[in-house]
Amino acid sequence: MLPGNIERFVRDFSRLPGIGRKTSERLSFYILSQPSEFSKELSEAIVRLKEETRLCSQCGNITDSDPCPICNDSSREMNVICVVETAIDIYYIEETGSFKGLYHVLGGLISPLNGVTPDDLELNSLLKRVTGLGIKEVVVALSSTTEGDATALYIREMLESKGVMTTLPARGIPVGTDIQYAGKGSLAQALRNREELK
Ligand SMILES: [Zn+2]
Repeated sequence: MLPGNIERFVRDFSRLPGIGRKTSERLSFYILSQPSEFSKELSEAIVRLKEETRLCSQCGNITDSDPCPICNDSSREMNVICVVETAIDIYYIEETGSFKGLYHVLGGLISPLNGVTPDDLELNSLLKRVTGLGIKEVVVALSSTTEGDATALYIREMLESKGVMTTLPARGIPVGTDIQYAGKGSLAQALRNREELK
C-alpha cells in the first residue's frame, strides 16, 4: 500500500487521458526523485495553464493575450477566414504552415441528434466578422462526418447572399497512406477532387 500522498497523486493523475495507474505510479516516483523545485514548477505550470489561458474574443482561439497573436498579426491575410470546430484545430493547421489567413472557432458541429442547433455555435459571430472585416473567402475545415458536412453546407448557405466564397480543403488520402489503406470514402473523395499533376 502506498502512503496517502502518493496514492492521491496516483489516483488524480490516472484521471488524465492516456495515463493508466502504472504510468501514474512511475510519474509519482520520478517526481519524488527530483529536487523539490521540479514539483513546484510543475504544479505552478498546471495552475497557470488554466488560470492564465482565455479565449480570444474575436476568433475563439486559446490564448494568453486578447486578441490572440493570430488576430493581432497584420502580416496575415485579413480577407480569408478558416472555420474550425475547436481551438486545438488551429494549432494543427498552424503547424502545417500552409494557411496565412484568420480563424474562427465554431465550438462544435450542427447535430440535431445530439440537440446541437446552429444557435448553439459561433455562427452569428462568424457572419458578423465576415461582413465587418470584408472577408472574401471562408475555408470550412471541419471533420469529414455527417455533422461536419451539414455544418459546412449551413455556412455556405448563410454566406451565399453575402458574395463570400466558401471553400473546402481538398479531402482525400492522408499523406503517407497507401491507397489500399486509405478507406473507401477517402479514396472516392480524393478521386472526385483530383487535381492536375504539375
Ligand atoms: Zn483570435
